[in-house]
Amino acid sequence: MDGTAQLKTLTVLGVTGSIGGQALDVAARLGIPVTGIAANRGSDALLAAAERTPGARVVAVAPTGEEATKLRSILGDAVSFGHEALLELAATPDSIVINGIVGAAGLGPTVAALNAGNRVGLANKESLIAGGPVVVAAATAGKGEIVPVDSEHSALWQCLVGETADSVRRLILTASGGPFRGKTSQDLEHVTVEQALAHPTWSMGPRITIDSATLMNKAFEVIEAHYLFAIPYDQIDVVVHPQSIVHSIVEFTDGTLKAELGDPDMRVPIQYAITYPERAPANLEPFDLTKAPLVFEAADRTTFPCLDLGYEAGRRGGSAPAVLNAADEIEVAAFLEGKIPFVAIPRVVESALEAVPLVQLSTVDEALAVDAEARRTAAHHVELNMRAG
Ligand code: NAD
Ligand code: MG
Repeated sequence: MDGTAQLKTLTVLGVTGSIGGQALDVAARLGIPVTGIAANRGSDALLAAAERTPGARVVAVAPTGEEATKLRSILGDAVSFGHEALLELAATPDSIVINGIVGAAGLGPTVAALNAGNRVGLANKESLIAGGPVVVAAATAGKGEIVPVDSEHSALWQCLVGETADSVRRLILTASGGPFRGKTSQDLEHVTVEQALAHPTWSMGPRITIDSATLMNKAFEVIEAHYLFAIPYDQIDVVVHPQSIVHSIVEFTDGTLKAELGDPDMRVPIQYAITYPERAPANLEPFDLTKAPLVFEAADRTTFPCLDLGYEAGRRGGSAPAVLNAADEIEVAAFLEGKIPFVAIPRVVESALEAVPLVQLSTVDEALAVDAEARRTAAHHVELNMRAG
């Protein structure tokens, strides 16, 4: 790392989650001070994270009264509450902000961090799905920069270092295929929450795990790649690769393919987002290329219609991806609560996409207004589905 990068501190949003916890591991490994942490609730997990990061400012966005009292008594003035406090934390000067919040709630902090001139290590892909045009405008307007944490996009980014945009033929995102790879639509009719939560290669929060089972996560990643790398949808492909060793591939116009490989471990892309353009040792075991054959197959777009819904929403542009995300958030929650079957997720998301009118997005508030409307529409469709079912 160069001298300037060493002066930076780290702010970890969504610190109680899967990405947030791993970001603290990386900070400890690199010896970078964490000066701000945030989570939604004021749970004991947030207190535990505060213990790991002495001196950090702590934000709990929506604690219960009891949680707030406990946090205040233990952390004193170091803790603040509410959404405004979260935005302020994201705008901490000279900080690298790892955004590991789940859902469209991550959009405001992403834009606040960019407006403050910070680097955002973006795990919260929903920032780009719910507000892609807004985030891109904020990243190009000021000194802030957005770097991917999502493993596929970190891979693409690493393959693109030193290359020019016009030499890229295709971005090829790899997908594990999720726990239901090889199943038919009929097989999926009776799958349980437990089966859908059993991801074969990655250990992640519940929403992205269900999104990986429907392939909606890959649909989001196509849209994420479109905004991150300013590349048309026709030049973004998806291939299923069950081992999750090849994290993604770039095909160049001269016929060369570059790929990034490694064990599925999110600490690697989190660390690169922090140390870029340098690398730092991680002391992992040397990778054993002989341990498993690498397999690639076409995605089953009939059994997993969410993938094409993503391309469709992406191509419509404007608010369509925001609707896709909001409806999916509602459907995934409804599925996890046992209110709708797994196979209803794409159906209900599609009806929300049809029902909510397309508008262009230029501010966070506009994006969040679409998000709210799409949630209401999706919740209504869940009701209808429950009554019909
Ligand atoms: P998680 O459910 O484990 O954690 C989510 C975190 O977000 C928690 O700390 C929670 O308190 C916080 N949060 C939720 N709502 C909030 C709100 N309204 N305001 C502030 N904070 C809020 O989720 P995760 O698996 O760590 O995923 C986080 C993000 O990273 C998601 O966008 C996901 O798609 C992305 N991602 C995760 C992985 C992974 O391996 N887990 C990989 C790639 C991308
Ligand atoms: Mg990913």
